[in-house]
Amino acid sequence: MDPVRHPASRGRVAVGALALALLLSACHEDTPSPARTWPVRFEPGAGTPRFDRVILVTIDTLRADHVSAYGYFRKTTPFLDRLAERGVLFERAMAAVSHTAPSHATMLTGLTPFEHGVEQNGQSLAPSASDLASLFRGLGYETAAFLNVKFLRGITPSFDEVTAETNSGPLVDAAMKWLRQGRREERFFLWLHLYGPHRWKDTEHVPERSLAALKRDSPLEGPELFERERALHGLPAAGDDGSLALRWAAASESGDRIEVESVRDWLEIIDRYDAHIRHADELVERLHAAVEGLNLPGTTLWIVTSDHGEGLASHGVAGHGSRIYQEQLHVPFLLAASDHSIGPARIRELVAHVDLLPTLAQWMGVRVEGLDPDLHGVSLVPLLEGSREWTPREVFSQRRPVPEDAEHRGKRADEELYALQDGRSKLLLHEPGAEELYDLEADPLESENLAESDPDARIELERRLRARVTVYKARRRGGAPEVPEEWAAELRDLGYVE
Ligand SMILES: [Zn+2]
Repeated sequence: MDPVRHPASRGRVAVGALALALLLSACHEDTPSPARTWPVRFEPGAGTPRFDRVILVTIDTLRADHVSAYGYFRKTTPFLDRLAERGVLFERAMAAVSHTAPSHATMLTGLTPFEHGVEQNGQSLAPSASDLASLFRGLGYETAAFLNVKFLRGITPSFDEVTAETNSGPLVDAAMKWLRQGRREERFFLWLHLYGPHRWKDTEHVPERSLAALKRDSPLEGPELFERERALHGLPAAGDDGSLALRWAAASESGDRIEVESVRDWLEIIDRYDAHIRHADELVERLHAAVEGLNLPGTTLWIVTSDHGEGLASHGVAGHGSRIYQEQLHVPFLLAASDHSIGPARIRELVAHVDLLPTLAQWMGVRVEGLDPDLHGVSLVPLLEGSREWTPREVFSQRRPVPEDAEHRGKRADEELYALQDGRSKLLLHEPGAEELYDLEADPLESENLAESDPDARIELERRLRARVTVYKARRRGGAPEVPEEWAAELRDLGYVE
């Protein structure tokens, strides 16, 4: 897990408008074709950076309704619960896509997968990308990514230093070592990616101590626990003898069949998933304690979210990637500042990962050119400051895009699937196929399709959704390079279909 310093690393840049402008122009000189020019630019703005350090933690495959800060009835995240109590918790935050690398690339760029060009796991972000790492580098911040899977290296071209390590404990150790090496006087942007909850299908590597701690803190068990889980996941009732017939293999990411024949089998699966969440929570707490222990001057901003949720039998789906019901899109999203300058608050407005870049840009005093608030994200700073200027809007999401050359490469040309939601209604558009329309307030499990019974709402949402898809596709970068063999091998090991 040797850290890799990118060859393009330019060392530290003095903070200042001129340095930023020079760096930005240098970033874009290597894009000869207008078609390849990155669509977003950073410009010096007013004000100085609000935070001296920003730490982004992404816990892979974490559906919000399994986070205790989001009301889950098991104590999966005691540390995040405390962080949320003193910071800001967005109750309704949505991922752009239920697939790991494309979703993370959206967080880093503020663009949809069509536009940033990372449409599949293992693909790479263009070195010319105006992403969060390049934004912070432009301000003279050190940037480092600590990744729990190797294939995410592809979306870190702008980071000064990248470490990939498949064991999460040593990964956090590496992040802590990096923090202790000369970070006292430095400003930095650190991204920590934890993969644990993705591994719930693996019966061999369960974080047993975390599972024991979870059970110690969560009194629900047996039939009572099952009934709560059943309501959360929209499962059928169990038989009197504890039998349970779950049909949920159809849309599994890996195509694995998962047989569940009893309540006991089901609760073992939930135990594994929740134990991985609890373990991730412990690791975030360790990193937080390490940062606190350094007594760094100034202010640290913490951001915790996930790239997507997980099926876990909801809507008959085991994993993620191919479907975008709420259990796959609704993710935790927490912000907390070390000086307690934001929050405490729980915010109900609908927000999304595309908002992360505009929000951080505003806080860091950088102006962003090329993002359209009607198509992309908006800064959440007005919302956090209680401004009346906040306008509710719609959030777009999609399943992982179909590769442009899917047919050519002999792969299955999967259907396209898009979603548009406005906080009340959600439309799912299948191409080809029929639409689904849900009233998320009355029917949060998305069980009653209103597409036929409420045609006016369906037609209006569909019109706006199709207009967006047309624009995103017109801006498609495409032509992403092939996946390097090392990452392809890892993706096969992790059970992705390739
Ligand atoms: Zn993921």
